[in-house]
Amino acid sequence: MNKHWGWMKPKVHPLCFIYYILALMSGYFKWYIIAMSLVLIHEYGHALVAQYFHFKIQRILLLPFGAFLEIEDYGQYPIYQEFCMLLGGLVTHIFIFFFLKYGFSLGLSAIAKDYALRMNQLIFLFNLLPIWPMDGSKLLELILFYLFEYRKAVWINLSVSFVVFIVVFIVHFRLDRLMIAVYLGYRFLQAWKEKRYRYIRYLLHEDHFKKKRRFHQKLLFYRPYDNILVKDGRWIEANGIKKVSIKETF
Ligand SMILES: [Zn+2]
Repeated sequence: MNKHWGWMKPKVHPLCFIYYILALMSGYFKWYIIAMSLVLIHEYGHALVAQYFHFKIQRILLLPFGAFLEIEDYGQYPIYQEFCMLLGGLVTHIFIFFFLKYGFSLGLSAIAKDYALRMNQLIFLFNLLPIWPMDGSKLLELILFYLFEYRKAVWINLSVSFVVFIVVFIVHFRLDRLMIAVYLGYRFLQAWKEKRYRYIRYLLHEDHFKKKRRFHQKLLFYRPYDNILVKDGRWIEANGIKKVSIKETF
């Protein structure tokens, strides 16, 4: 899918149906639907900003325990745009909070409203966790790109991700977090394996956005800058010698 504005139907993962049946049988269906609605509003918040910046949106994938907006070429857009896109999902929880607290009850009982408010807070905080590919981790990575060279920033971010993952899902293990732990563990391993490929893609990407120059004595790539290598008193545009750098990746 690659259109500018428009409604996106989420792609529902087949595993969700097993959850729906289990929720129906156990009488938790209403609560499950409330939680999933909040998750989907969060994703549509991301999607709205992504559409505004003309990102190539692949789909919104609805999983039994959450949802993800999948964007083609994430990491190739200007940093501020990716930053806004990530915030787009997080700010929806502030709107939902005020909406439920001071606005409409949507026909929800007092208990259901209270549950929605608690879930809203939980989803917000959970998404802030710096575990790849959660919003918290992606936001941290964007900040790290300003401080460190591309490969180092990615490495630090994934290392933080690993430590937080261990603390949240292994040290404080809970059975009800098992499925999300397996999924995030899988996504983390995938990101770790693909970091070299991601770096090469970043190097090969033709950048048309104006960036500030940054001068280096060595061949280094800082994502937010136009990198210039100073050698023997001469300036060399790092873009022109990307191929050299591809050989010496992670
Ligand atoms: Zn999000």
